[in-house]
Amino acid sequence: MATSLNLGYPRIGPRRELKRATEDFWAGRLDAEGLEAAAAEIRAGMWRAQAAAGIDSVPVGDFSFYDQVLDAAVLVGALPARYRALGDPTGLPAYFAAARGVAGEGGLAPLEMTKWFDTNYHYIVPEYSEETEFSLHPERLLAQLREALALGVPARPVLLGPVSLLRLGKPTAPGFDPLSLLGRLLPVYAELLAKLREEGAAFVQIDEPIFATDLGDVERAALRRSFEVLRAAAPGLRLMLASYFASYGKDLGLALSLPVDVLHLDLVRAPRDLAGALSQGVPEALSLSLGVIDGRNVWRANLREALGLLEEGQRVLGGERILVAPSCSLLHVPIDLGAETAMPQELRGWLAFAGEKLREVSALAAALTKGPEAAQDALAESDRQVAARAASPLVHDPAVRARLAALGPDDARRKSPGELRRAAQGARIPLPELPTTTIGSFPQTPELRALRAKRRSGEIGDAAYEEGIRAEIARVVRLQEEIGLDLLVHGEAERNDMVEYFGEQLAGFAATQGGWVQSYGTRCVKPPIIYGDVHRPQPMTVRWLSYAQSLTERPVKGMLTGPVTILQWSFVRDDQPRETTAKQIALAIRDEVLDLEAAGILAIQIDEPAFREGVPLQQTERDDYLRWATEAFRLATAGVRDETQIHSHMCYSEFNDIVPAIADLDADVISIEAARSGMELLEAFSRFAYPNEIGPGVYDIHSPRVPGVEEMAEALRAAAEVLGRTKVWVNPDCGLKTRRFEEAVPALRNMVAAARAVREQG
Ligand code: GLN
Ligand code: ZN
Repeated sequence: MATSLNLGYPRIGPRRELKRATEDFWAGRLDAEGLEAAAAEIRAGMWRAQAAAGIDSVPVGDFSFYDQVLDAAVLVGALPARYRALGDPTGLPAYFAAARGVAGEGGLAPLEMTKWFDTNYHYIVPEYSEETEFSLHPERLLAQLREALALGVPARPVLLGPVSLLRLGKPTAPGFDPLSLLGRLLPVYAELLAKLREEGAAFVQIDEPIFATDLGDVERAALRRSFEVLRAAAPGLRLMLASYFASYGKDLGLALSLPVDVLHLDLVRAPRDLAGALSQGVPEALSLSLGVIDGRNVWRANLREALGLLEEGQRVLGGERILVAPSCSLLHVPIDLGAETAMPQELRGWLAFAGEKLREVSALAAALTKGPEAAQDALAESDRQVAARAASPLVHDPAVRARLAALGPDDARRKSPGELRRAAQGARIPLPELPTTTIGSFPQTPELRALRAKRRSGEIGDAAYEEGIRAEIARVVRLQEEIGLDLLVHGEAERNDMVEYFGEQLAGFAATQGGWVQSYGTRCVKPPIIYGDVHRPQPMTVRWLSYAQSLTERPVKGMLTGPVTILQWSFVRDDQPRETTAKQIALAIRDEVLDLEAAGILAIQIDEPAFREGVPLQQTERDDYLRWATEAFRLATAGVRDETQIHSHMCYSEFNDIVPAIADLDADVISIEAARSGMELLEAFSRFAYPNEIGPGVYDIHSPRVPGVEEMAEALRAAAEVLGRTKVWVNPDCGLKTRRFEEAVPALRNMVAAARAVREQG
């Protein structure tokens, strides 16, 4: 009897209730009890939705107030001592302090945050040292388990496994290997499993997504040792090991040999893992969870194909040993299609969000168990939609294809080398040494959001909207002049989101109304859906930039999102290679870059914050990605004259292994995140002798804390020391849109003062 299971459900609530409740709590409008109550209601909703979809085994522990890795660290008592000073480590004050820092005198910086594998979700990075001790704090998880069981939910606790929890963390002293803590950590997991069992759990999922990366012998040994300990700790408890986002690769044999009852395979990313497992031999006692429904994208599945894979497994293992699942947690897709009434009906028919995906999982489980007749309607609908999409004129635009086919190597190459461009730009753009700038966005005020909402609802027309945006641009330009910044920005007041804004204007993209996905903490994004060939019907930003530049003598930097980031942060087509889609977007951005240049904009920034996260998790696929991704960026930018300065921006990036590719982008200036990671990554750039200019972020905009002048001056001196002062720009580490003006303005004033102080020291 095949079972349907889910690996994780979106936790933000159907109308982002969690965001609202949490932000109310932070602002003091809601007390802790109110926040806990809102959370319990959201969890009940998550479980109800999964029950309604007919899922046999439902995750518990996939809810989080901020991030599941932080939750896992708290669960095993690994919250750093400085946050524990704020009280009970499972309490909200200590928890949110670690997640977001504490503002004001005697404040605390938050823990670092970084990308969750190759997704656009960010997790909080635990810290480990020789001194780290672990202890079990299971109260929250146990309470949720009780809550689920009381509601009659077939609950299956989901834990981040010990090896991944250690590997995803960061040593506080160089050279310390967090994995050396495994011996101390395992008893806590063992104790936890025993507790879960006592509370009535029969089945527990242990995620070790570290399998998606290239493992070394140390990790392999650690994984084996952990599962041996966990197995012994909980006899009779059904254990599932899950990894996702990539093939098990060389380590499939290891995964198959671990003492668990169920092994999950991501058959969307790694369809061949099934044949691999079957041919290597699946131990008698092991069942397979087959992740055939794409948890990372929004397309309706080809159920016929998925069923084929499942049947392949069933033929060898028998139905009893097959579980049907999404490929990974559904955290990465929107909740359901219910709200999507505005997109073309035709397109809507091709989509499936979390709720619809679980129905696909159930239909497949039924078809597998009782034969295809049991899911006849679902299969027929799937066939119909798959055929319609493949043939639809919404998808195919011959002009775009022809333009792409006609490209030559010169189209992706600047006219002169960096040195010559630098001279040409220096002559035209008047800037001091250590020039100051920002990353683009200024705070998005409630007034701005209201303005956008009014236009959306039709309460105001285009003219009133444009006037409102222009007023904001004028205010931000004046403010920057007054603060004394050197290269100004227009502030991005017209943008709800750096990808959505372009998605709304490019052909081949559709926006959703309610398609929210968590990015980090309470921050959610609404990724556009790329369904067809892409082009730019008309200019997208030129009027705002021309207006901003008309207001000031100082240069204003144009601001666009790069092709790789637009690709990464959208739901992309699964019917052509990512490379092709990236290049189509690149050409659309190129058209905009050239229009900005023609309008007299001297510097243009093309943001690529998602460049790093697009790097495949496994070495074998990296070179190919880096080749086409850099080419797409250059295709977008290389059309300009020498004297036009191309900037790029990247955040939360570990550059060590990709500095050559970053250099290959051939941007004249790049700004990077460096404040949170303590300027460490500058070393990588200096080792490589990065040829162009760099603005290492001198302060962390993700925290409300206002850094002091001396703190930033010091960061700047360190950067100038490593990179050479003629190559360094001064900027925050990301855009300011999530901050308030009251936080951003003093921080920028301090930043400008820091730059002046360091300049004067010669
Ligand atoms: N220009 C964008 C901004 O300032 C960049 C944001 C980002 O890198 N995520 O908001
Ligand atoms: Zn950024």
